[in-house]
Amino acid sequence: MRPARALIDLQALRHNYQLARELTGAKALAVIKADAYGHGAVRCAQALEGEADGFAVACIEEALELRAAGIKAPVLLLEGIFEASELPLIAEQDLWCVVHSLWQLEAIEQAGLTRPITVWLKLDTGMHRVGLHPKDYHGAYQRLLASGKVARIVLMSHFARADELDSTASSEQVAVFEAARQGLSAEVSLRNSPAVLGWPQVPSDWVRPGIMLYGATPFEVPQAQAQRLQPLIGRVSMDMLCIDLTDVPEAGLGSPVELWGKHVLASDVAIQIGRAVQQEC
Ligand SMILES: *Cc1c(COP(=O)(O)O)cnc(C)c1O
Repeated sequence: MRPARALIDLQALRHNYQLARELTGAKALAVIKADAYGHGAVRCAQALEGEADGFAVACIEEALELRAAGIKAPVLLLEGIFEASELPLIAEQDLWCVVHSLWQLEAIEQAGLTRPITVWLKLDTGMHRVGLHPKDYHGAYQRLLASGKVARIVLMSHFARADELDSTASSEQVAVFEAARQGLSAEVSLRNSPAVLGWPQVPSDWVRPGIMLYGATPFEVPQAQAQRLQPLIGRVSMDMLCIDLTDVPEAGLGSPVELWGKHVLASDVAIQIGRAVQQEC
């Protein structure tokens, strides 16, 4: 059997989730899309289920996997529906759904649903990936309310560059958000990991930590709050490599090696790799 193994410390996962809550005082959706960033979505959800306010995944397939495994907590579909036929299942399985474009809104208006659903209405505040245009935001909110298909609306947006602590991009996005939500009384959700750790002034009833749950800092520079995570992930090329042990004479055949973990920060490894690549070019 191959000796290379990835050990996932579920206690560390819980610690990092609690840190997101503690730093923000907000409710937190644990982002476990893409199989919990490769850590195993079902296992991670089970480890957090007792305490998590809910989970976030990319699409309905990922959400159904969690429901099939017995996860009962709220699950948000971050990319919303890809086709209208998903909506009855969303109602039936009690999933929450992002609405980021007008065709999704129309699909909800026309859907036959067994019960009203929870919608997270996404505004494009500057990332320009998905999200409604500010001029359509109020109208979309009113149409959802009037549709009779929606029980609850949370207002959301996503930061493009929250990991750049000296950039004004995030404050500009917050300003766009604040202007667009004027007059709407609903909970808000803006902050992903870098914003949880580095942007304490940004309002949030709900935060959406992803990468920080797995112990990796989202920043390229040292950051006080990020030092409080225990790094677990990093870059892998193959499951074999050569190491210069000249300075470690006591190491021998069978000695355990920490590639990254409690003592070797994954972020430091990533920075070293970045430097090495630059030097080669
Ligand atoms: C992936 C994702 C997150 C989590 O982002 P991290 O930077 O990993 O914390 C939050 N919100 C949305 C909409 C996402 O797509």
